[in-house]
Amino acid sequence: EPTEAARDERHGRRRRVAVVGAGLVGSLAALNFARMGNDVDLYEYREDIRQALVVQGRSINLALSQRGRKALAAVGLEQEVLATAIPMRGRMLHDVRGNSSVVLYDPINKQCLYSVGRRQLNEVLLNACDKLPNIRCHFEHKLTSANLREGSMEFRNPAKEAVAAQADLIVGCDGAFSSVRQHLVRLPGFNYSQEYIETGYLELCIPSKSGDFQMPANYLHIWPRNTFMMIALPNQDKSFTVTLSMPFEIFASIQNQNDLLAFFKLHFRDALPLIGEQQLIKDFFKTRPQFLVSIKCRPYHYADKALILGDAAHAMVPYYGQGMNAGMEDVTLLTDILAKQLPLDETLALFTESRWQDAFAICDLAMYNYVEMRDLTKRWTFRLRKWLDTL
Ligand code: FAD
Repeated sequence: EPTEAARDERHGRRRRVAVVGAGLVGSLAALNFARMGNDVDLYEYREDIRQALVVQGRSINLALSQRGRKALAAVGLEQEVLATAIPMRGRMLHDVRGNSSVVLYDPINKQCLYSVGRRQLNEVLLNACDKLPNIRCHFEHKLTSANLREGSMEFRNPAKEAVAAQADLIVGCDGAFSSVRQHLVRLPGFNYSQEYIETGYLELCIPSKSGDFQMPANYLHIWPRNTFMMIALPNQDKSFTVTLSMPFEIFASIQNQNDLLAFFKLHFRDALPLIGEQQLIKDFFKTRPQFLVSIKCRPYHYADKALILGDAAHAMVPYYGQGMNAGMEDVTLLTDILAKQLPLDETLALFTESRWQDAFAICDLAMYNYVEMRDLTKRWTFRLRKWLDTL
């Protein structure tokens, strides 16, 4: 006797798919489900990023690599994204004396990473969603509860009203602190672990000058400093977004403007005049450093009812630059498996089986890079404190 899911597959019933989270992975997943003929509701907690004055959340720009490009190419968007992306042909390393040197990623085949704005990329994906009549976007809808077995969900809108919704399949693309995953965690047989690291990050900016970049544009700039580091990726407006990543202890030891300027003069001598002293002081003390978490879990699905993708399934520390790329690769893999037209419960089980080892591996690789940097933390923090005390 064929299962209900198998009958649905054979009869080509249009499923109602609810994708929760319209970030980079959710909007890409919605596109793929819709292109396969499903009815898709895309729910997003925040306002429409295309109308937002300030885009909240994680990094302002990201390094797009082959995994992400392949997923974008599959929905016909790779060229549109690359048209505004900035190629980064290698790393430009900045030492403490202010000297720089270049390490190309691929001198022979000339492959490169691309710096893309999170907002621009999300906009391209959402605009593509708008073009498909079988995707409905619901912004300012925060998932507050769900019954995965019954496919029922409840959302809150800005007026704090509850909005009920129903779907055949619920797909959680709601990031590292996923609500959909919280429902999976309660199910027997669901494995879950999370680890916060002792390093935080905050974003600074090297603005453009006279309408041009202040550093060579086609590189990922790195200031490696053992226990901490700074990186900078170019933006389309000819500025650089700078990410300062260091142990919370070091952040805490920088308590005032003098500490901050002395710290930058010592460690980031060449970057300080580019950022500008006043801008640095403003940006550094404006926000607290953000936490970074690594999450492993499995299975990624529940029967033929629910699935998690992207950071919801495997958030990782950013030292490998692969979080978004891996999330987009989830969508590529899922779409390939869906094309086999197996019953949905088998499809989702096959997705978990084919994905979890790679996802765990990339979380580990990202963490190894972090641990390597962290090993010297205590010695450096001690020295730094002593040095700040002498000022
Ligand atoms: P998110 O981007 O977190 O999107 C989740 C969406 O779900 C959000 O829009 C959120 O508002 C919404 N949401 C959350 N809860 C709810 C709810 N209850 N109801 C409805 N909606 C909800 N990756 C790379 O590949 N390359 C890089 O260079 C890179 N650099 C990074 C640098 C930093 C500093 C950090 C922190 C991360 C970096 N990453 C990078 C990782 C990348 O940011 C993530 O992997 C990527 O954003 C994951 O996308 P996502 O769509 O799964 O989750």
